[in-house]
Amino acid sequence: MTSTPGPATDREIPEYLGRLGIPGLADLHVHFLPEAMQRKVWAFFDRAVTEYGTAWPITYRLAEAERLRLLRSFGVRAIPALTYPHKAGMAQWLNEWCAEFARRVPDGVHCATLYPEPGVGDYVAAAIADGARLFKMHVQVGVFAPDDPLLDPAWEALAGSRIPVVIHAGSGPTPGPYTGPELVESLLRKHPTLTLVIAHLGMPEYHQFADLVERYGRVHLDTTMAATDFTEHLAPMPADYPRRLRDLGDRVVLGSDFPNIPYCYAHQIEALARLDLGDEWMRKVLWDNGRRLLEVDDDA
Ligand SMILES: [Zn+2]
Repeated sequence: MTSTPGPATDREIPEYLGRLGIPGLADLHVHFLPEAMQRKVWAFFDRAVTEYGTAWPITYRLAEAERLRLLRSFGVRAIPALTYPHKAGMAQWLNEWCAEFARRVPDGVHCATLYPEPGVGDYVAAAIADGARLFKMHVQVGVFAPDDPLLDPAWEALAGSRIPVVIHAGSGPTPGPYTGPELVESLLRKHPTLTLVIAHLGMPEYHQFADLVERYGRVHLDTTMAATDFTEHLAPMPADYPRRLRDLGDRVVLGSDFPNIPYCYAHQIEALARLDLGDEWMRKVLWDNGRRLLEVDDDA
């Protein structure tokens, strides 16, 4: 088994992908937001010492056009715009913005979000009919239970369409009243065919979320921030966990959290490569698995 060392700088990413023999990156966890909201999010990270107990300098605090240009230069072939509401009445407006993003960005992925509120089943069905192919929800920011019965019609529509839903449900970087694997398992008991993508490998509950991947056939893990130097200080990966990542290699997908990361994009790839799970594992995680979920052509 060979493990080619990962790229040390963003400039080296295309060369690394060439060595692996993959045509690009399928990153399921990229954020674009309406401009005013983006500024508020960055202002939040500027207070990270108070909020999270650690500084969180944003590496890619750049204009939208520049962020798109950079992602393309890294080799990202389909560009998601994940958004999520922190209160009721926001999701539909975000979904309209996401639809507009997908119309004006030719390689953009049409994304959508949801919140437990009356009408959620209807606007999720409408977003799917309109072409949305990736959803996001954030349990800690939204402060709701993922198995809230209000969401049932939306989950039914999503399960039927097999559209992936990136769900931030782990208790990192800060726990909330509804974070953790228990309520996600309760959701999966009701909707076992959902294509859930557990953001950040579910950290810090790494093992319990991996159990859900083993138990439910369409549950995946995204690598967002995992194994990076930054995260290894905050929520280190258990020593026996990379072995499980290797065994679950068909259901682990690249996620980055671009642009809100306190290190360069290449470091995420380098951090995964140094787990030493081999080039074949890297090919699946960086390209095959995400490409399949986003239905991107292999020759993209
Ligand atoms: Zn994120």
